[in-house]
Amino acid sequence: MPASFSGIPIMTTIVYTHAACMDHRPGAGHPEAPARLTAVLDALQTPEFSALQWRDAPRGTREQVALVHRPDFVDLIIDNAPTQGYVVLDGGDTVMSPGSLEAVMRCVGAACAGVDDVMSGAADNVFCATRPCGHHAEPSRAMGFCVFNQAAIAAVHAQEKHGLSRVAVVDFDVHHGNGTQAAFFDKPGLFYASSHQSPFYPGTGSRSETGVAHNIVNVPLARGADSSDFRAGNESDILPALKAFNPELLIISAGFDAHHLDPLAGLNLTDDDFAWITEELMKIADACCGGKVVSILEGGYSLEGLASGTAAHLRVMMGAK
Ligand SMILES: [Zn+2]
Repeated sequence: MPASFSGIPIMTTIVYTHAACMDHRPGAGHPEAPARLTAVLDALQTPEFSALQWRDAPRGTREQVALVHRPDFVDLIIDNAPTQGYVVLDGGDTVMSPGSLEAVMRCVGAACAGVDDVMSGAADNVFCATRPCGHHAEPSRAMGFCVFNQAAIAAVHAQEKHGLSRVAVVDFDVHHGNGTQAAFFDKPGLFYASSHQSPFYPGTGSRSETGVAHNIVNVPLARGADSSDFRAGNESDILPALKAFNPELLIISAGFDAHHLDPLAGLNLTDDDFAWITEELMKIADACCGGKVVSILEGGYSLEGLASGTAAHLRVMMGAK
């Protein structure tokens, strides 16, 4: 990675988004609302982000979705997507509106295109400004606001299309990514590490869940945990394990609901912590895989915390911090 000059972006960072991601509407009062994406996009319109290269997310394919999800589940979602009203998948949490199928297919397409861009060298790194989030979606189950798991799909896409042997996903969303863990658990070439509030939704993510080859690393954090707890857990467990795994590509499940302003969760991270973890992950990606990073938006329910956390994350990805 070239040297950083103060305030001057030196990395080619592509951002994928799509208008269809605004049209997943899980209902009035649902925290995973279109306004989240508006907040993220607005935060990246200021002059310091003018070097970002914006792209419309392509539509993902059924074949890409089926890299992680079971064929009968994929068919269930596609065949039952509503043309009017709602389809409830998981209590009141995970709901499809008429725009939802297109939104989730754009999430999948963005993540896979991001992988293609960093593998071809078209971008140094990529951020997917898409919604809904994906890390709770298991191979045959939609849950926790998530329908398809775009981070896990992108990782398997990197293996299948680009022939990679080792792909890592690191997840700093405040919730444990049970779906990504389930998809990766028995696959030694896929690594998943998560720091998350515990006990908390979805209830998984204990230290004892380690995968078939110590390819799963969980760092539970107690309610009220702050910067020092978060950084200590990453420094002692996640970062060394990631380095040892030596990924050929790093995918970040970038949720900003561990922010102290978040209304759903109880951790106390600041924008500086999101910048810090981004820097640490990029250092490892630089050493292991030429800085190939695809970051994918997950949760974050304080519009203010989501906007400022995303900005802190992108500043580092652009090399302009
Ligand atoms: Zn979350």
